[in-house]
Amino acid sequence: MNKTLMKKLFAFLIALSLLPAQTWAAGYTGTKYPIVLVHGLFGFDNIGPVEYFYGIPAALRADGSQVFVTQVSAANSTEVRGEQLLAEVQSILAVTGASKVNLIGHSHGGPTTRYVASVRPDLVASVTSIGGVNKGSKFADFLLGVAPVGSYSNAVVVSLSNGLAKLISFLSGQPKLPQNALNAAQSLSTAGSLKFNVAHPEGIPTSACGEGAYNVHGVAYYSWSGAKQTTNFFDVSDPVLALTSLAFNGEKNDGLVGSCSSHLGQVIRDDYGMNHLDEVNQVIGLVNIFETNPVTIYRQQANRLKNSGL
Ligand code: CA
Repeated sequence: MNKTLMKKLFAFLIALSLLPAQTWAAGYTGTKYPIVLVHGLFGFDNIGPVEYFYGIPAALRADGSQVFVTQVSAANSTEVRGEQLLAEVQSILAVTGASKVNLIGHSHGGPTTRYVASVRPDLVASVTSIGGVNKGSKFADFLLGVAPVGSYSNAVVVSLSNGLAKLISFLSGQPKLPQNALNAAQSLSTAGSLKFNVAHPEGIPTSACGEGAYNVHGVAYYSWSGAKQTTNFFDVSDPVLALTSLAFNGEKNDGLVGSCSSHLGQVIRDDYGMNHLDEVNQVIGLVNIFETNPVTIYRQQANRLKNSGL
């Protein structure tokens, strides 16, 4: 091989290595079944141009996924949200002609997706729980502790929270969704979650902090979460999450959910350098630059589903 050819080959290889990974991967996220994203407490599909799963649907669609972003009550019990999601899943199946969906839920979206997979496993290929409140949140316990049900402080907190939930639903174009912040807090508490898990145990670890069953009634279960609170100097939500994390007494958490509580089925990782909002690439992409970008992790999960034939 002559020197010029060697140089050209070398330059070509360098150029190739500098290409962004996405351009390599036509069909990388091309799952067999549509992906359905489900938000958490005080969540929404989008408010104006701001998506709850910030930049994630487009990143998944770019490499072959069919993605649907759902909206359920911003604040309500897991069962109420679950029934709303089931209706949305049925519409998605009708529109696409698909036989099943891959559900991906964040925070309260974890138990919400689990509800649908539990009552209609025939419609669900997989559940991926991200920062999921699967065994409750110590912050919800803390709130119900300082503002017990029936107290004046509880009435104030519930009224403010219902107001916020109604505002979110109004801004995101679904003003008629019912909101009940007290039922939401109870669903997200440790006691409420344990009660829910008795009725819907699929994928829940039987040990305190292990993995759960990888596949139940034909549904594959996965989870991942972060375990850091302050990750980006410019993100105004970081100090808030540092404060809420105090409810965990040093237990590993992402600011709102304990790492062990997030476990469901196959635990991909429970200690990314991310807080609860980083897990959905918020606020508007301000995440830990020293950690794998959350959008990449969603893409990896879609690829994992694809490679599992889902
Ligand atoms: Ca952030």
